[in-house]
Parts: sequence; C-alpha cells; structure tokens
Amino acid sequence: MENLNLFTSTQDVIQDALSKLGYSNEMYDLLKEPLRILTVRMPVRMDDGTIKVFTGYRSQHNDAVGPTKGGVRFHPEVNEDEVKALSMWMTIKCGIVGLPYGGGKGGIICDPRTMSMGEIERLSRAYVRAISQIVGPTKDIPAPDVYTNSQIMAWMMDEYSRLRENDSPGFITGKPIVLGGSEGRDKATAQGVTICIEEAAKKKGFQLKGARVVIQGFGNAGSFLAKFLHDEGAKVIGISDAYGALHDPNGLDIDYLLDRRDSFGTVTTLFENTISNKELLELDCDILVPAAISNQITSDNAANIKAAIVVEAANGPTTVEATKILTERGILLVPDVLASAGGVTVSYFEWVQNNQGYYWSEDEVNEKLRLKLVEAFNNVYSISETRRVNMRLAAYMVGLRNAAEASKFRGWV
Ligand code: GLU
Repeated sequence: MENLNLFTSTQDVIQDALSKLGYSNEMYDLLKEPLRILTVRMPVRMDDGTIKVFTGYRSQHNDAVGPTKGGVRFHPEVNEDEVKALSMWMTIKCGIVGLPYGGGKGGIICDPRTMSMGEIERLSRAYVRAISQIVGPTKDIPAPDVYTNSQIMAWMMDEYSRLRENDSPGFITGKPIVLGGSEGRDKATAQGVTICIEEAAKKKGFQLKGARVVIQGFGNAGSFLAKFLHDEGAKVIGISDAYGALHDPNGLDIDYLLDRRDSFGTVTTLFENTISNKELLELDCDILVPAAISNQITSDNAANIKAAIVVEAANGPTTVEATKILTERGILLVPDVLASAGGVTVSYFEWVQNNQGYYWSEDEVNEKLRLKLVEAFNNVYSISETRRVNMRLAAYMVGLRNAAEASKFRGWV
C-alpha cells in the first residue's frame, strides 16, 4: 500500500537524503522529528453565545540555524502529523533558499468558511495567547498559510503586542503593508512558482508563451499564478477550487475568474459545465501546477498525468511513490520545498525590513526574490543531474544541509 502519511513519508525522504550526504544515523535521529510541538486547546465565544473549544498546534522542527519560521493554517483536516511534516518541509525550504531560519508550522482545526469575522478574530487572538511562550521575533515567526491572510496576521500581531506591551512587527510576517508588511508578500508564492516554471521550461526547451497550463486551486498561490502566466502569454486551460474545475482548451478568461472568486478562492460554483478535480489533473497540457492540498497525485493517477512539467505550488501534492513514477516517465517535477519557497523568502525580507525599520519597493523585493530562486532552482537541478536522483530528493539534499551543519557546529550531533 502506498504511504499517504505526510509525516512518515517525509521521514523516508529525509533518511535517504541524509545518507546520500554521508551523515550518521544520529543526524537522522535528530532531524526525523520536530524538536518541539505544542498542542493547545482554545475556548472561543461564538456569535450565538455558546463556547466552542478549538484544538491547535505549533511545531518547531529545528532551530540550529536560527529562529523557526512558517505559516499557520486554519483547516478542518489539520492534524498533528500534518503540522509536523509541514514544519520539517519549512526547514528544507529555508535551507534551499539559504534563509537564516529553521522550520516551524502551526495549525488550528476549524473551518473558517463557516465562521464570522468576529469568531475568526477571537480564535486568532486565543491562538497567540496559547502559544506566546514559545514564539517571538527571535524564536519562532508565524505567517499565513491555507485559509489565513494578512487580516489574521494583523490580529495576531496586535495580540502579541498587547501581551508584550510593545509593538512587535517582527513577530509575524504576511502583515498588511501599513502594519509593517512587505511589498510583494501577497504575490510572493506565485512569483516563486512562476520563476521555477520559467527555469523548468528552459530546461525542457520550450517557451512559456503559448504553453498550455492547468492549475489546481485558486487560492493565494493559484489565483496570482494564473494571472502571471496569463500575462506572460501562456494559455491557462484549467483551474479548480475545492468544489470542482473549469476547462477550456482555448484558454479561460482569467481576469473574469479573478474578479468573481471569493476570498477562499471559490469560483466554480458559478458555472454549470464543470469537471472534477481528478479529471483536471489528467488534462492534456504542458505544465501542471497542483496549488491546492496534499496527496493529489498518487500512484493511482501518476501514469495518467500528461504534462511535461509538474510544479508543486501546494505543500505535499505528490506522493513519494508518484514522484518516482513521474520521474521515470521523464516528467520534470519541481518539488514543493523549492517551488513554493517564494512565500517564506519574502517573509524573510519582511522580517529584515521590520528589524531595520527601512522598507523596500516592490521592484526591489521582486529582484531579490528572483536572484534567490533562480539560484536555488539551478542548485537543486544540478544536484539532481550529478547525483542522478529525482528533484525531490535533490531538494532535500540541498535543503537539509544547513540544519545538519549548524547542528554539528553546535555540538548537538
Ligand atoms: N505558509 C507558507 C509556506 O508554506 C509561508 C511561510 C512563511 O512565510 O513563513 O511556505
């Protein structure tokens, strides 16, 4: 049976990567689990007067390099193993781009689509109170993730500032610009994915102009990405949300869809002729971008994927087994830990700007982001070529090195 558990399958790839790098078993023992994970229960008053108790987590994988860093997701399917895996991937992402951070991640089991703004605000503030002892601008820095946004970051920062009795903009990233957010942070994940697509297309020897693209998910990453690729002359022939997918072989009207989507990325409910997410993934196209949730390309459908390039904008959309199948079929898979690293990279820029109190223009941010991601892509690509491993394993090899070396210098292993 295929392993669909994100945590244990990540452990397998970590073990493989560390042994290829020549590290001892003790190093694997250190890096196979987060250093700490806090589980919290938060009573929140709902609008109807009742109290609901929510469960949340904050996982800190490794802080040898620097403070831990990573988003907080609000989703009904959040669970401890998922948050642990996500924090491990953050260590790898930060390592690939060379950021002075280790990996962290948080999550709350809830469905914000059914909650009022007031309820979401009270839950966000309760979460910060619950985890305040282990986070902070030099300890662990949260950010947006699935179903969280700059407004939620603003409430969280405000709550933290109240607890600490001073303004702490560097406590969290992904903030609104007026509260110390960075230009370009909202589009950063999609920018990073676009850069990886451009680099991957160069390797495969085709032009982005006229290329047929399918994007699964129309949230923060998927929607901006559709816009960027559309503006670069690519033909976006398929998009989807949690409820279904839209397909037009002549190219979808992206500006219209962006205009009609709601803040959770829902848009397909407005149309009658929809296809399923499963059908979407198997469409005939040049570039496929899973930008939604995990375990979408598995051993069940990997043989039916028709794209030449798969670029993972979501975290964990392709299983380890499916990665092998795609690679064997000659499909270039750009893994999540590389392709989705644009978000945390600009989060780092935001934190740097907060620390120095001097803010950069959007062009400056984008230029710095491009430099980092082009270098990261080519680094991972050349390791995959010289060591004859798939791009996921190569990315883990590049991404784990800083955490392993820093742990060694500190005398932990
Ligand atoms: N949640 C995003 C990720 O998975 C961003 C994390 C951050 O900006 O710290 O990479």
